[in-house]
Amino acid sequence: MLLISGPSGCGKSTICKQLLESDDVVFSVSATTRAPRPGEVDGQHYHFLSPESFRKKITEGAFIEHAEVHGNMYGTLKEPMERAIADGKVYLVEIDVQGALQLKALEVDGIYVFVAPPDFEVLRNRLSGRGTETPEVLERRLKKAEDEYRERERYDHIVVNDNLERAVAEIRRISGLPEEPDAGS
Ligand code: 5GP
Repeated sequence: MLLISGPSGCGKSTICKQLLESDDVVFSVSATTRAPRPGEVDGQHYHFLSPESFRKKITEGAFIEHAEVHGNMYGTLKEPMERAIADGKVYLVEIDVQGALQLKALEVDGIYVFVAPPDFEVLRNRLSGRGTETPEVLERRLKKAEDEYRERERYDHIVVNDNLERAVAEIRRISGLPEEPDAGS
């Protein structure tokens, strides 16, 4: 398992998109109760579930971990992770800090990477650039990002996302993936 975590707005989704260019990497599709954003596909970006279905999955023990993030539920499913690891793939888990620390507490084997914003001014600009948040929500998210930033020492690696290409190259090196995803193919 290659776990990519960090505050909201630190660029982890963009990093994951690039890592997925390698055929050896399989993305962990989480379940969530939040509504799909434009362009998001059920089963590809997330499994979009009703709160009732999500609760049912909790009682069935289908999740390795689950957490509430910004008022919605998110969970990592057990079965696809076990399958990908059995197939010898790198299982890429993009997750918030609470979820990452839950996986660590459960001693789920893997490489834990914290993606850090270069500084909080950059993070503020990225979060407000989404244009979807009110000033109150923005302040709450920034405060949460600062709290999450304090947890970075608990990860195996801290990668500062000051430059996307460099950050991706560093994560590929850490996880033993080829530098160029299509090299040799
Ligand atoms: P978004 O709704 O913007 O896609 O994601 C919100 C946050 O939830 C992000 O920080 C994302 O990494 C996190 N997240 C996505 N999937 C999971 C999951 O399965 N478990 C947990 N704990 N967090 C998740």
